[in-house]
Amino acid sequence: MTEFIIVVLFAAGFGVLALKARKLCAAMLLISASILSAQNSDKGAEIFTFKIGDAEFISFVTSRRDISDDTFTTPDLLKVYKNTPNYADSAINYFLLKDKGEYALFDAGLPKSANNDMVLNLAKVGVKPSQIKTIYLTHMHGDHIGGLVENGAAVFPNAKLYIPKDEFEYWKERNEQAKSVFALYGKKLEIFSKDAKITPLITAIQAYGHTPGYTAYKVGNGDEAILVWGDIIHANVQFAEPKITLRYDVDPTLAYDSRLEMLKLAVTTKLRVAGMHLSASGVGKVEQLDDNSFRFIPLNAN
Ligand SMILES: [Zn+2]
Repeated sequence: MTEFIIVVLFAAGFGVLALKARKLCAAMLLISASILSAQNSDKGAEIFTFKIGDAEFISFVTSRRDISDDTFTTPDLLKVYKNTPNYADSAINYFLLKDKGEYALFDAGLPKSANNDMVLNLAKVGVKPSQIKTIYLTHMHGDHIGGLVENGAAVFPNAKLYIPKDEFEYWKERNEQAKSVFALYGKKLEIFSKDAKITPLITAIQAYGHTPGYTAYKVGNGDEAILVWGDIIHANVQFAEPKITLRYDVDPTLAYDSRLEMLKLAVTTKLRVAGMHLSASGVGKVEQLDDNSFRFIPLNAN
């Protein structure tokens, strides 16, 4: 730690060598405190890279946390699992597809003010915001669109923004954050109908319930594809009991139906899934335990 602080002191031009020992100690204490707080607020995402054929699929995992019990709306079901390790595991993730020199994002996480510096995170994989050509949104909740706007401006000035029609219609008069995204990306909005084949590599799959136009994306073809299912699972416990719902679900019953359908799709196709709230790397496989109970098997790489 001391070495690290000295390196930072040098880098920051504090002239470590010129300081006498006592002054140095005092300076170290002060600066180490500020470094720690800076690290906490700006340490960046954890990054995991997977392959889809020749393309790279990169997972950015931010904000690891437990979902608090009062967020769940099915307390009786939750009670059964409360002693299970990691039942409330969650995170906030987004994904980058690098395909033939073109870059696409799937959702954009929280805003920078909530410790999601997308410019920093993308720089870690050699990408500038201006190089992002397309962004595919699963839905318009703040932990998915926050990273699209900073200081009242679009973070991705050259990106087309793909939004499912039913999602756009639901939010366009309802929510200020969504409205500001629609306004800032105005001409770049690409509103599409359900289950659209958007590119040869990307197919939209409607999974309504969590929100009224909620949409997942299949990225890639055949066995190599990844199912970007977004918020089908918010906390680990929903694998074991998909009937467990959260207060963020606009239609909890429909959200459950979609969850079950997607879990079964992941099992029957054996495809990898990528989730915006999955723990570990945000990417993994699904195993079926019995009729309506499942398990998440995280992957760290291909
Ligand atoms: Zn979410």
